[in-house]
Amino acid sequence: PKPLRLDQILFSQGFGTRRLCAGLIAHGEVKVGGQVVDEPWAEFDTAGLQFEVGGQVWPFHDKAVVMLSKPAGYECSQKPKHHPSVLSLLPAPLRERGVQPIGRLDEDTTGLLLLTDDGALIHKLTSPKHHVPKVYEARCKHPLTAAMVEQLLAGVELKEPEGKLPGKFQRPPEITCAEGAEIVDETLLRLTLVEGKYHQVKRMVAAVGNRVERLHRPQFGALVLPVDLEPGHWRWVDPASITAS
Ligand code: URA
Repeated sequence: PKPLRLDQILFSQGFGTRRLCAGLIAHGEVKVGGQVVDEPWAEFDTAGLQFEVGGQVWPFHDKAVVMLSKPAGYECSQKPKHHPSVLSLLPAPLRERGVQPIGRLDEDTTGLLLLTDDGALIHKLTSPKHHVPKVYEARCKHPLTAAMVEQLLAGVELKEPEGKLPGKFQRPPEITCAEGAEIVDETLLRLTLVEGKYHQVKRMVAAVGNRVERLHRPQFGALVLPVDLEPGHWRWVDPASITAS
């Protein structure tokens, strides 16, 4: 790729309008290779480029892909109703780039949430066709039985969540099955799904006569939530590590 002007680089990485980026640079706020660069027109190769803005290091990414350890009490929707948005846990340049969650976790669900500004990647990772497994750990109210696991693997009918739609708009029943289901301990169920229907785990567990009390996602595709990534914290992700087998 051909070298880009530094103001253009900052602009592409979410640091505000081109004018604002040029201002940051002219004011000596930006370093490349440890040296202040105060000429907005200075050009750099973007491959492997790192720059510092206000003392913070930023690696250049053509597309941003990050993982967040989602805490409970945050909503994935763009216009959250009752709780802050997961986007409020990310630094401004990532929000400015327009990163969006790849699929959604409920407000009370914790665990691995991926976010990106790459629309094609969102499609690839959420479409059931591409068969990307998501692993959930559901703490259930009642003891789990082998019969429940068998039903989850064979397929269950998801009920419309109560109060969601008026009767006449109800859709045909949705039948869905788990790719994997295992009992971890008396009330902990490990479930692998390749789709992401609304409240899917909770509705599947309800369909077999149990109830999810806490839900956590430790894994998305091949990517496992690192144990040292604390709730509310994020880090960059190499997209190849999500689909690696
Ligand atoms: N299934 C659910 O019910 N909730 C989630 O947050 C994710 C999957």
